[in-house]
Amino acid sequence: MTEIPSTMRAAVTHGWNDMRVEEVPVPVPEPGEALVRVGACGICGTDLKILSGAYEGVWPPSLPFIQGHEWGGTVVALGEGVKSLNVGDRVVAENHSGCGECIMCRRGRYNLCEVARTRDPAYKLYGHTAPGAFAEYATRPVKILHKIPETLSFEEGAIINQGSMALHAVRRCPVEPGDWVAVFGPGLVGLILVQLTKAVGATRVIVVGRGPRLEMARELGADEVIDYTTPDVVGQIRELTGDRGVDCAYECAGSPDAVRGVVSAVRRGGRVGLVGLVVTEDVTLRTDRIVLDDLDVYGVRSSPNAYPEFIKLIGAGKVNVGKLVSRVFPLEEINQAFEVFRKREGGAIRVVIKP
Ligand SMILES: [Zn+2]
Ligand SMILES: [Zn+2]
Repeated sequence: MTEIPSTMRAAVTHGWNDMRVEEVPVPVPEPGEALVRVGACGICGTDLKILSGAYEGVWPPSLPFIQGHEWGGTVVALGEGVKSLNVGDRVVAENHSGCGECIMCRRGRYNLCEVARTRDPAYKLYGHTAPGAFAEYATRPVKILHKIPETLSFEEGAIINQGSMALHAVRRCPVEPGDWVAVFGPGLVGLILVQLTKAVGATRVIVVGRGPRLEMARELGADEVIDYTTPDVVGQIRELTGDRGVDCAYECAGSPDAVRGVVSAVRRGGRVGLVGLVVTEDVTLRTDRIVLDDLDVYGVRSSPNAYPEFIKLIGAGKVNVGKLVSRVFPLEEINQAFEVFRKREGGAIRVVIKP
C-alpha cells in the first residue's frame, strides 16, 4: 500500500474569482468514511458561479474553501466501521449526504434533506457547503460512494454526477415509449438527456441550442436541432410535430426564454422538466397554458438514488460519456481550465481536472 502523505495540493478559493493551488493537510476519514485519491474532477457551471460569488454566504458558507463536486478516484484508506468498500476500489462520489433522520431522508429523498436549510453539519453538500475535490485527496461517507468498473476511466467517471441528474430528470418527468421529446440547452445534462430519452424509447428528440453543441447533439442521437437564435423556435417545434407539440420537454439552459419555451413546446397534457437554474432572474410566464392544458411541471434537483443505474446504463452502452469530456488539465492549471470552460472554447462540454 502506498504511503499517504500528510499534505496535498488543492485548489483553494480565497475570494471571488481568486482560486490558488497550494499545500493543505490531507483530510482524515471519520468513522463511516473513506479517503479517496482523486482521479478526476469535472468543472461544472455551478463551479463558475460559486467562484464568482453568486451564492455568497451559502455556497460556500465561508472562505477559504475547496470546490469540485463531479469526481471519482481510488479508495486509499478507510475510517472505522466501513464494510462495503476496500482500499483499491475505484469509486465515484455523490454530493448530497443527508442527515438520514429527517422525513425527506427517510423517504429516500435525501437531496431534499430538511437539515439542508440549517447550518447543521449532519447535512453536507460537498463542493458547495463541505470541502470538494479539486485536490489530490478527499474524504466522503461511504454511503455516497459508488464503485465503478475497471473499463470506465476517471475522466468518464467525472460525467456520472451530471448523468445521474439526467436520469433523475427522466424519472421525475417520465418519457413514455414512442414519445416525442424536446431538450432545450445541449450542455452536459442536455446531451445526456438526448441519449437517455432515446434509451427509454423516445422516437424523436428535438434539441434547441446553438453552435457546435448542436452538432454534438446530432452525433449523440438528436433527430432535429434548432438554433435558438432563429425566429419562432416554438413555432418550428410545432411544425416538426404536426402542430401538436412534443410529449415531454426538458429545460436545461437555465434561461427565462427556455423556461417559456418548454412550457409552450409541449402538447396538451404534456410534461415539462425544469433542470436548469435561472439564479438571478425572475421568469414571467403565462401560467394559464399550464392550467388549461393540464400540463405536468416537474422540478429536478440533483440525483438521489440514481448513480447505480446510471453506471449500469454506461456499462450497457446506452449512454456515451467519453465523447462529453472535452479537455483535461492538471490541477496546477485549474484557473486556465476554468477559463476554457467559461468561454466554452472549442465548444467545450466538460473540462476535467486530473490531480
Ligand atoms: Zn455540477
Ligand atoms: Zn435529512
